[in-house]
Amino acid sequence: SGSLLEVRGLHVEFRMRDGVAKAVNGVDYTVDAGETLAVLGESGSGKSVTAQAVMGILDMPPGRITGGEIFFKGQNLLTMREEDRRKIRGAGMAMIFQDALSSLNPVLSVGDQLGEMFVVHQGLSRKDAKARAVELMDRVRIPAAKERVGQYPHQFSGGMRQRIMIAMALSLEPDLIIADEPTTALDVTVQAQVMDLLAELQRELGMGLILITHDLGVVADVADKIAVMYAGRIVETAPVHDIYRAPAHPYTKGLLESIPRLDQKGRELYAIKGLPPNLMHIPSGCPFHPRCPMAQDVCRTDVPPLYEVDERRGSACHFWEATLHG
Ligand code: SF4
Ligand code: MG
Repeated sequence: SGSLLEVRGLHVEFRMRDGVAKAVNGVDYTVDAGETLAVLGESGSGKSVTAQAVMGILDMPPGRITGGEIFFKGQNLLTMREEDRRKIRGAGMAMIFQDALSSLNPVLSVGDQLGEMFVVHQGLSRKDAKARAVELMDRVRIPAAKERVGQYPHQFSGGMRQRIMIAMALSLEPDLIIADEPTTALDVTVQAQVMDLLAELQRELGMGLILITHDLGVVADVADKIAVMYAGRIVETAPVHDIYRAPAHPYTKGLLESIPRLDQKGRELYAIKGLPPNLMHIPSGCPFHPRCPMAQDVCRTDVPPLYEVDERRGSACHFWEATLHG
């Protein structure tokens, strides 16, 4: 296929002392060059674990990939030699995490940390690497980059630190960036700035972008398509505007109704009742049934497949039509 990234039938388990947590239970998704996929869900839905499997950073106990395939530019990442995998992890794809402060080294200047990539991967001299670090800081619009390149992470604001993380991810010009809750730790106004920057760079550089978030509110303007995850499965997938116009799964509907809206101040927010499922004991039938306001008897016994709503859209709900038109 022509996709940049293709995840097929992925299964991931965590073997714990008291049982097996089924974190990812048959996930399929694709990302093309220049495309942004938002992966949405509560914590424990499997969205980060899927991304870690793609990055190749959970191939260690207790996490284990128990099924499926991951293709990057047509090559199966799960069967290739570790040496080749490492090359792809360096230059083909990069990941941005939520917590910049704990991802950055506190005793190295940001310039040294940004430059390190060029020294290690491209054999540049320290001086040339520093010049590249300044360029990168300019690129992510950190003011006075030349003056600040020698400063340490704690001397930057949260938003600026997250820009440094983005710069680091961009340094080797990857084809794919995976951003896991990149703005969750930031103030709302700073969140929007960082998200805009990420979207702009993604367009400029033609990269694929996977944006992992629990907040439907932050992805409306940046994503092309959305995959909503619950209990390690994709329960709805669709072009972003279709989802906002009319969700085809009750869980997505609940998430949408939970977004605070400026024009509806004072209105009581619909928070999805109940707790996310225990991944060691995923509910029978539709895993969402204990929390679903539309659940019927069949939902307790029959696992809903991903029904085709139209050629670009799927919903894992027995009653997707009623949800879509309701
Ligand atoms: Fe709700 Fe049933 Fe649809 Fe699951 S299959 S989301 S329980 S209506
Ligand atoms: Mg997470």
